[in-house]
This record gives sequence, C-alpha cells and structure tokens, in this order.
Amino acid sequence: MRYLSTRGHADRKQFCEILLEGLAPDGGLYLPESYPQIDASALTRLREVWQSQGYAALAFEVLSLYIDDISRDDLQALCRKTYTPEVFGTKEIVPLKPLQAAGQAQPAMYLEALSNGPTLAFKDMAMQLLGHLFEYELARRGEALNIFGATSGDTGSAAEYAMRGKKGVRVFMTSPNGRMSPFQQAQMFSLLDDNIHNIAIEGVFDDCQDIVKAVSNDLEFKRKYKIGTVNSINWARLLAQVVYYFAGYFQATQSNDQKVSFTVPSGNFGNVCAGHVARMMGLPIDRLVVATNENDVLDEFFRTGVYRVRGTTDTHETSSPSMDISKASNFERFVFDLLGRDAAQTKAIFGEGLSRQGFFDLSGDRRFAQAATTYGFDSGRSTHADRLTTIQQVFATYGVMIDTHTADGVKVAQEHLNPQVPMIVLETALPIKFAATIVEALGRQPERPPQFEGIEALPKRVQVMKADVGLVKAYIQQHCD
Ligand SMILES: *Cc1c(COP(=O)(O)O)cnc(C)c1O
Repeated sequence: MRYLSTRGHADRKQFCEILLEGLAPDGGLYLPESYPQIDASALTRLREVWQSQGYAALAFEVLSLYIDDISRDDLQALCRKTYTPEVFGTKEIVPLKPLQAAGQAQPAMYLEALSNGPTLAFKDMAMQLLGHLFEYELARRGEALNIFGATSGDTGSAAEYAMRGKKGVRVFMTSPNGRMSPFQQAQMFSLLDDNIHNIAIEGVFDDCQDIVKAVSNDLEFKRKYKIGTVNSINWARLLAQVVYYFAGYFQATQSNDQKVSFTVPSGNFGNVCAGHVARMMGLPIDRLVVATNENDVLDEFFRTGVYRVRGTTDTHETSSPSMDISKASNFERFVFDLLGRDAAQTKAIFGEGLSRQGFFDLSGDRRFAQAATTYGFDSGRSTHADRLTTIQQVFATYGVMIDTHTADGVKVAQEHLNPQVPMIVLETALPIKFAATIVEALGRQPERPPQFEGIEALPKRVQVMKADVGLVKAYIQQHCD
C-alpha cells in the first residue's frame, strides 16, 4: 500500500513514513492510492472476527489492509494494547445504545458510544492508537518527537492522555487560559507526567493557533527541536476511525444484505471522512449525514455546492465548541475523490483558489450531484436552541442524557430517518464535559463517571504565559535539553 498527495506530488510513501508527518510536501493531504475492497465473503469474515474476537481483532483486520510496513504480529499487539475494556470502559469498546421508547416496535435510532475512553470524547478512539504507533515507530528509528499543538479542549487532552508516559515523545500543548470548561481544564492540567507540558496562553484559541503556526514556519527551530503535530489531518487518526463504522454496522444488522446510515457531528470532517473511506471499501452504508452546528461551512457545501471558508470574526463560539471551525481541514480528501481524483483541479481550488478568493463553487459541476447520489452524503445544521430541545427530548423520551455535540447529530438525524434503514448517530462526547449546557437544558448536573469524581480538586501542573512566540519557544527549548 502506497500513499499519495491530493495535490499530485510525485512521491508515493508507505504508512510509517507519513505516520509522523502532517501535510504532504505540496500542501495536500495523504490518501491511499486505492481503497482496499471488502467483498461479500470478506465482510462475512469480518463480521465473524467482530463477533468472536471483538474490537481489537477487527481493528487489526482493517488496519492491516492499509499498513504493510509493520509486521502483522507487531500490528496485532499494538491493536490489542490499545483497545482494551480497561481503557475504553466496556467489552464492546463502541457499544450501540438503542433510542427506543416503551411501546415502540423498533428503535428510532442508535447511538454508537465512542466516548468512553480516557478523555470522554471520540478523539480517544484514534489518539490512543496513535500513542502506541508513535512509541513503536520512534523506538524503531531511534528518534524522539516533540508534539506541539493548540487546543480548545478535546484534541489536546486526547493527545496528552495518549502520549503520557510514552517513550520518545513529549507533548507541549497550548490552550487559551481560563477558556476551557472547568472539567476540561482539570482533565488536562492534572496530568503530572514528565513528558506532558500544558501551556495556558493569555488570549483566545486563535492566539494559540498563531503561535503554533509561527513555530511551524520556523523550519530551523522545527528541525532542531524535532517538532511534530497530531492534528486531525493525520492519516493514521483517520484510519483508526474507519474501524468503528464496521463495528457499528455489525451491531445494527444481522446480515450483510442490510444497510445502515450514519449521522456524524462534524467540524473538521475527520470523523465523517472515515465513514466515507469505509463506504468506499464496500461497507453497506446508505447515507452519511453530516451534522454541523452554527458553523455550517459543510452543510452549506452539501446543500449548495459552494465551499466558503469563514473568517475568524464570523466563526461562532457555540455550546458544541469542538465543532467550531472556520474551515474543515479534512474536506480536501473527500473533494479529491468527488472530482474523480483529479489532483490538478484539487490543487487549483484548495491551493491558490481558496487562499485568493476564500471560496470555491462546484454547483455548476456535474460531479457535485454525485456527492449525494454516488457518495451518499446528506447534511443539516443545528443551533443552540435545537441543542437544548434535543437534549430535553432525548432525556424525556428515552431516559438517555446526551452531550451537546451528539445532540447536534440527533437533531439532524431526525430529519433523515428512513424506516427501512437503521440510523446510527455517533456519540462524540459525554455530557459531563459540557455541564453548563446540560444544566441549562435539564436543570440538573450531568452524570459523572466514577473515575472522574473530584478531579477538579487534584493538583495541577500548567504554565501560564503571555501570547508571545519567543516565550513559548524558550520554554520548549528549556524542556528539551
Ligand atoms: C472533534 C470533535 C467533533 C468534530 O469531529 P471532526 O472530526 O473534526 O469532524 C465533534 N464532536 C466532538 C465532541 C469532538 O471532540
């Protein structure tokens, strides 16, 4: 298996070469040269693997189709180490929860629980694997890596929990001082591991991102201090997410003649892009419904064919903050496929076109219609008021408490139900992470998993710093020597 860039660079790379990289050298994103095909007998076999051996074995089967530069034994061991009930809370790892009221003949929909990992958000599903893969590959190369990033909450903590204690890796994570929820701050700052560094920047999330950009543009510093990232464009993260589409399908169906649909609360298009990959492999997915919040860049595209990047001033701060994006960093992968893998055109619209004009328009391109027909995409958006109503409704009708991001998914899923096809909504976080909105909706505190009792009172390790690139660089330097 070789990987190519969506912008047509001539290099073809292996999995472990792109594992520690971000963008391709031409600014494109990596994708496999082709999607391995799962025919009927392979799907039957995967269902048996899921049923008899569980998630870690299924993960190994799917990953091994894309990874041929790690031995099968080692890859199997990495999957087994990652997907354990101790880390993910249940034997199934990603159990389906039917939303079914008493007296209903069948569930209205299912929630696929992806947020029972260490940080209670779906990013753990991929990041935990990445932690093990990084440690493995760095040891094999005899190298070290310093992960540097910016977070408004979920990504940074998932990265820290995945990398804590891992050999060869340090994490330097900036976050806007005082702006994450108290629970998120407690989660991150209570990590006392030597290789984890929290830097709270006096400013907003954009200030943190600007600092990360400035450091990435300093190639000399980047090379000298072996700076890397773990953002959502990383192919290994996306690949890890493909697995739970298979696990969701096997749980919602009895036979491979059936189809399912997924609704995915979306921001950077990483999660739903994994669904697209699963569908391209032949998993019987009917619809892939993209759910956005008020930051509706993606919903706008699927409705109109126009992709319009937002400026920082028209990016809304919402009560589903992990979906507050101005552009969807993984979207180029899908558009590349939609355009029949025309790298020149992908480069033209995402490269110069987007930075010059701030938008591209495929409404007049006959291939745009295929997003819905050939590729099965639908979309919808949700607002703060919708979120509150949906949280109330789901709690009153099914006795299930959902978080604000999952609520965006349920709201949009309701607009795309088909009685013939089970609908699976991906549950991307637990309500405890976004307690203020739950209290607003339900007038009560969300349930707290027992292992998180009292985390706000734990000792914290965090360095508060002015929004100054020089200070941040000095801090990294000092902690790398
Ligand atoms: C990151 C995140 C999302 C958005 O996922 P993308 O892959 O960026 O589309 C949705 N919900 C939660 C809780 C998240 O943390």
